[in-house]
Amino acid sequence: MTYDYDVLVIGSGPGGYATALRTSELGLKTAVIEMHDSVGGTCLNRGCIPTKAYLTAAHTLHDAHRANAWGLDISVNGIDMSALKAAKDKSVAGVVKGLSQHMKARSIDVIHGVGSLNKAHIVSVTDGDNTREFSADHVILATGSYASPLPGFEFFRGDNEAISHAIENKQVPILSSDEALDLEQQPQNVVIVGAGAIALEFAQFWNALGTQVTVLLRKDAPLSRWDTHISSTVMRTLKRDGIHFETHSRITAAGEGAVTFTSLNPKNGSEQDKTIPADFVLAAIGHSPNTQAEWFTTAGVALDNHGHVITDDCGRTNLENVWAVGDITHGHMLAHEAFEQALVVSECIAGLQPTPVDSMTIPQVVYGMIDAVSIGYTAKQAEEAGFIDVQETVVPQLSNPRVAMLGSNGTTVIVSAVSNENSERIVIGVHMAGPQASEVAGAAREIIHNRIPLHNAANALFAHPTISESLGESLLKADGRPLNVR
Ligand code: FAD
Repeated sequence: MTYDYDVLVIGSGPGGYATALRTSELGLKTAVIEMHDSVGGTCLNRGCIPTKAYLTAAHTLHDAHRANAWGLDISVNGIDMSALKAAKDKSVAGVVKGLSQHMKARSIDVIHGVGSLNKAHIVSVTDGDNTREFSADHVILATGSYASPLPGFEFFRGDNEAISHAIENKQVPILSSDEALDLEQQPQNVVIVGAGAIALEFAQFWNALGTQVTVLLRKDAPLSRWDTHISSTVMRTLKRDGIHFETHSRITAAGEGAVTFTSLNPKNGSEQDKTIPADFVLAAIGHSPNTQAEWFTTAGVALDNHGHVITDDCGRTNLENVWAVGDITHGHMLAHEAFEQALVVSECIAGLQPTPVDSMTIPQVVYGMIDAVSIGYTAKQAEEAGFIDVQETVVPQLSNPRVAMLGSNGTTVIVSAVSNENSERIVIGVHMAGPQASEVAGAAREIIHNRIPLHNAANALFAHPTISESLGESLLKADGRPLNVR
């Protein structure tokens, strides 16, 4: 049978566009269906790229405030929030344009509209009143995720003007990151509910602007599933920078220019209500897979209890020639995991034999004035997973001159173990908090992913003086031969 396309992808985010780029490179006729005007999905338009544009501005402000320490007479005379937003939009537009051109150069058709899997090999695309059908040998589901609402609260629905109006009227709207990225005014007081990357990145951005930021946490620290040395280093640093954390807390009301929350005292079990001023609430408690559309059920796509599409190691769903990648599948909701999945799915379709994605070694990263990175097992997870003789080496970054010059601090944790009594000790976890730690994540990941023995990993050479030397020093210490650290 002849189809319109070899591969038809629903969704143009990192999962979808990366699949299309690779399948077209492999010689397959490919199209991508996208319901928004621009390609790139959450990551390019409302996620990774705009948040990092704002954090770039935050870093500049942060450096300007520290300029006096170097004898530099620099002052910040104001922040033009609408110009800052325009600069962020320009960064996004540049990246989106680059992707569009790249897709065009690879002869990928972009079909605008809402796609749905009709039946085997047939996808409908609805754009306004117009519905068309396309056929394809393979269909890739890459519809992404959406921000989970705060239990008991609804997201404010309305455009930027309506949000500004609600803030002026002290309604304290509940916003997701989508709306928060488009605000044109600098908030005075913000309450953020959440303890993950999105919560901490926005907290650092607004804090750098001079906004009073309060983060409400359910547990006693952010990043509660991470290595505790890392989460406590992040919390200590952010507190020092002026961000306020309310631990063991849950929001109970928002309105009249304030947020009320209940805090539990874990020592005696007592609860206390507190009310603080707030312009709005950023709800950043996580994302849910975008699989509620009716066609997922009618087409018979198998989902797990959390709504993720169930796939095998190649990304195959339960339906023949239907595949899934990105946030709709189980795993970390991260663009680089979606890229990795996209390569695997594409190469499986082309009959190659790619290495399956190892979700455990995908770097989890929080960006900010210090970055936080978690790759592989924490010591606790390693013991639970049955590794033998698990060792955790915790190394403060105090002796790294570049970290000191930045007036910053950091911690590196190396987790090593043996998988059976006859095997060599390998590095199974690297966890880092420190300036620019995200730039070292790739090197750390390769060590874990390739199961490099610790004594070989510790021979890795990093140029001097660099921040990345902290990783080298920590590996040497884990191997029992510390050089510049005690
Ligand atoms: P998406 O990027 O969500 O793309 C899905 C696409 O499908 C969308 O364009 C959507 O419009 C389209 N779509 C959905 N349904 C249909 C349909 N029926 N028909 C047609 N089109 C449809 N990850 C990182 O790795 N690093 C970061 O720094 C980072 N920062 C983030 C910051 C924020 C504020 C947010 C919200 C997320 C961030 N992420 C980050 C996560 C990252 O954005 C996602 O993991 C990634 O975008 C997932 O890619 P995806 O292709 O699965 O889905």
